Amino acid sequence: MKNTGWLGLIFVIAGGLFAQADNPPALFALREADLKRDVYALADVHFNGRRAGTLDELKAAAWIAEQYRTIGLKPLGDDGTYLQFFTLSRNQLSERSSIAINDTPLTIWKDVAVAQLAHVALNAPILYLGTAANVDLSTVEVAGRVVAMEANPKEFAAEKSLPKRRYAMSQQTKYGLPLLRRGAAAIIFINDAIGEDLWDYTVENGRPGTYALEGEANATVTATAPILWLRASAKALVQDGKATLKANLFVDHFPYPSANIVGKVAGTDPKLATEYVLYSGHIDADGVRNPINGETIYRGADDNATADAAMLACARALVAHPAKRSVLFLIHGAEERGLWGSRHFSAHPTVPIENIVAVLNGEMIGRNDPKVATLLGSTAPHKNSDALVAMALAANQEGPGFTLDSTWDSPTHVEGWYFRSDHLPYARLNVPSIMFTTVLHPDYHTPQDSAENIDYAKLTRMTEWMYRTGWKVANAPERPATNPDFKLER
Ligand SMILES: [Zn+2]
Repeated sequence: MKNTGWLGLIFVIAGGLFAQADNPPALFALREADLKRDVYALADVHFNGRRAGTLDELKAAAWIAEQYRTIGLKPLGDDGTYLQFFTLSRNQLSERSSIAINDTPLTIWKDVAVAQLAHVALNAPILYLGTAANVDLSTVEVAGRVVAMEANPKEFAAEKSLPKRRYAMSQQTKYGLPLLRRGAAAIIFINDAIGEDLWDYTVENGRPGTYALEGEANATVTATAPILWLRASAKALVQDGKATLKANLFVDHFPYPSANIVGKVAGTDPKLATEYVLYSGHIDADGVRNPINGETIYRGADDNATADAAMLACARALVAHPAKRSVLFLIHGAEERGLWGSRHFSAHPTVPIENIVAVLNGEMIGRNDPKVATLLGSTAPHKNSDALVAMALAANQEGPGFTLDSTWDSPTHVEGWYFRSDHLPYARLNVPSIMFTTVLHPDYHTPQDSAENIDYAKLTRMTEWMYRTGWKVANAPERPATNPDFKLER
């Protein structure tokens, strides 16, 4: 009896050991309570939504740097710090600007929104076309003319994310830009009923201006002709065909600071330690914008405090048990304004870019069905490393066991999401790159993307998947190869 009992116990212990043979050594360091605390801290209203280029983003970056220091990462930013600063170049409509129709002055951002910036002085008759959808725009002679049209309510794309935010922009792209390319001096859109409801969005799209990287060829260039939006009440001013537009628009151009937060855990293998596995996230969110359900701070809990918290947890695990290769923790600035932090770091890396063996990007990893997740970069044409994807899939099998939804990786998916996060600049440089995500949800880019809406058990399992994947890559005898035939569809 006793012996049998001991034997049974020995089998249980042995079975447990065998089952754990593939486990990385510091799973214990991935704690749901830590993830929850860090998401709550970053998504707190204290940081005002962490908008790129503001002190709020820098405060949050400093908070991350302090976590890096506490955890024990080595700084790999500027001058022995965790921060790599870069400068955004920002264009914004000057308050000196003025707009009048028939000599009646309009209040900018109240009566009229400037959706596309341009330095112009215009005094010209307005050609009124009626509803955009009903006119064959290709037959209209527009060169040198100010063209006005009513918005087309059919452009409300409910099947896409952020349809309210995209409403005005989609019309500008479809009806406005082709006419500007044919030489129109300005485009005026007149709100329909939907546009009236979404006026706050149109204002918030235009008022902050545009961003680029300082020093890039197009950093200071603005368009040659503006796009304006008018309230529906202004239709009466322009529809008789005799109206004139007087517009004096000035564009202010100024530098705007942002920063990447960079730290590392040194590898233990003297040879492999010169190579890096790069964990990637982003610090910025959407800041303070138009109210939705009475709230104005766009907290960015899922997007992207979840991935940042996951990276801090992975950093604790890798400090506790370093891998053979070095591991870089890189939380990018200014992702939401155009992937500027990752574009900057990939062009000015603080380790040789050819020594980065893989990018593991986390983007929104704490929502939706607890059993389902997505790996972008896992199917053609987005897959740039069979070996890296194989390791990530094995890590999922051995750990969290998510059902993987690959539809989001399809080049025909309506969101085109592969192109909307920080792995992209690295993939374009042929660095093996994947993105872990639990995809979009109705709170995406709203103030309701808040810490209490995160599924922390799921976030913990996503973190485990990222840690297991990084551990495999960082200890593999060979670095993952890039597929020679890799070519993105755009
Ligand atoms: Zn994001």
